[in-house]
Amino acid sequence: MKKIFVVLALGVVLAFVPFFFKLSPYVLNIFMQAVTYSIAVLGMTVVLGYAGQINLAQATFFGLGAYAVGLGTVDLGLNFWVTFAMGVGVATLAGFVLGLTTLRLKGHYLAMITISFQQIFDLVLNNWIDFTHGPDGIAGIGRPSLFGYVLADDKSYLLFCTVILYGAIYFVWKLPQTRTGRAMRAVRENELAAEVTGIDSLKVKVTAFTMSAALAGAGGALYAAGFAYISPDNFNFARSIEFLTMVLLGGAQSPFGGALGTSLLILLPEWLRFLKEVYLAAYGLAVILIMVFLPTGIWGLISVRVAKYKKPVPIDLASIVPLDVEVPVTDPAPILRLDNVQKYFGGVKAVDGITIDVARGTVHALIGPNGSGKTTTLNVLNGIYNATAGKVVFDGVDITEKTPHERAGFGIGRTFQNIRLFPTMSVVENVMVGAQRPNNPIEPGPAALRSRALSALQFVGMAQQAEAIVQNLPYGHQRLVEIARALAGHPTFLLLDEPAAGLNQTEKHELANLLKRLRGHGLTIFLIEHDIGLIEKVSDRITVLNFGKKIAEGDPATVLRHPDVIAAYLGEPAHGAA
Ligand code: ADP
Ligand code: MG
Repeated sequence: MKKIFVVLALGVVLAFVPFFFKLSPYVLNIFMQAVTYSIAVLGMTVVLGYAGQINLAQATFFGLGAYAVGLGTVDLGLNFWVTFAMGVGVATLAGFVLGLTTLRLKGHYLAMITISFQQIFDLVLNNWIDFTHGPDGIAGIGRPSLFGYVLADDKSYLLFCTVILYGAIYFVWKLPQTRTGRAMRAVRENELAAEVTGIDSLKVKVTAFTMSAALAGAGGALYAAGFAYISPDNFNFARSIEFLTMVLLGGAQSPFGGALGTSLLILLPEWLRFLKEVYLAAYGLAVILIMVFLPTGIWGLISVRVAKYKKPVPIDLASIVPLDVEVPVTDPAPILRLDNVQKYFGGVKAVDGITIDVARGTVHALIGPNGSGKTTTLNVLNGIYNATAGKVVFDGVDITEKTPHERAGFGIGRTFQNIRLFPTMSVVENVMVGAQRPNNPIEPGPAALRSRALSALQFVGMAQQAEAIVQNLPYGHQRLVEIARALAGHPTFLLLDEPAAGLNQTEKHELANLLKRLRGHGLTIFLIEHDIGLIEKVSDRITVLNFGKKIAEGDPATVLRHPDVIAAYLGEPAHGAA
């Protein structure tokens, strides 16, 4: 609580600095630039820092906001507030459309498209002279009035922009702890795992892109009125790179980093001016050095230091509600039917016509030698791969064409053979993402998410480590967190891909106990495992694969003594295997 007041006090003091000192118009201009740019850079915090998506067109969205105010007030004589709304609106819409059409692409493709978009904007500004005034730009942009008071003098307008900047910082600061913000970070950390836990990753990325564009539009609109004059070279590719540099320099993970990076990069050239001819080189060098030695930016460094002095909040284990894993079983029909499923990778028949029925409330094991198609079967089952042929029917619904996040919404949870967590997020946050899955039968609201996550963590014995960063945990614990993440979504069907791999004997024993505790509550478990001892202990039924085909199926006692199964495990040709 005390911290909030310190931050608030500091904010108020900073906002009133121009009123305490006699500042030249030149210095006020620098302040104005820092404040309006910062708002656009906060957009980069959202899209790049939180959602992990590259955006090299931020100056375009900034420009759309600025030109809406410039053209709207000067050419059309509209009220500032109308043009401000138009600017934010147009930038938001452009961000949404660009995001929706391009965010299926990854990495450098996305970078290329945003650069092209930026170049097109530049061409339009310079060449559509009748509309944009061309390279001459627009002069004489007026200032808004607030409650009948025209913000004509620089100081009051600057204060007004600062208040808006504070609002934007607050929004961006709070965002990571919301459902949407957590989903953005999960997508950044591991998109595939995010999808499988129920996050519509395209929607989340488009949302981040749109928010980013909206912030840039607002910053640009304020910039136009602040400087009264705008021209195309304020909004070109170089400016987009500058926004990118600012967010990386300050630290993309926090709005404070963004604002800090912006201020520094605006001030740095001023401070280095005494170097005369070599100033540009020195500036470039300074930026490169800072970025190389501070990969998380300046704020990243500061927050690591601060975190050392923070006392970890103790988790009140006694107050954690026991995890409810109960799944009502009324329907006698199998919960899952794989109907003649095939998955070919070119000539590799990874899965070659498998039919499996999984009965409700059972532990059904899928075993077979390495490369026999077990993981591929799971991937087809939860939508990571589309089946080459065949049908996947879950609880009476044909889900063959559904996306992984839609399948998660049906109650299909999963863990991965090679653990896929959200490495830099905390243990409890990882599990909260699981609790966020669509149709999870829990109360709405953030408290219920956290409480569900803690229950799931306690169930697997990891509640004590709830606040730890997940990548710092030992391997065996990470496996448990991944199981907890799936359980937090209250799945009816749980897919486990070699959960015992890499565990020591004690851990394996605990895992067997965990699976036994999950049994008999109506939850169905589909388990891939190499450890035959574990399989014998927990499974009701076993299906054996070899070379993408089913070679045996039945209860453990019979199947594990089947000659084809023994042959497959010993690596000999399976005589008579169909
Ligand atoms: P298992 O999990 O039973 O060890 P997998 O399902 O991972 O086996 O693999 C089955 C076969 O499919 C292997 O021959 C593997 O090389 C191949 N395979 C799996 N995934 C791919 C992929 N994405 N592209 C090409 N081949 C693949
Ligand atoms: Mg596998």
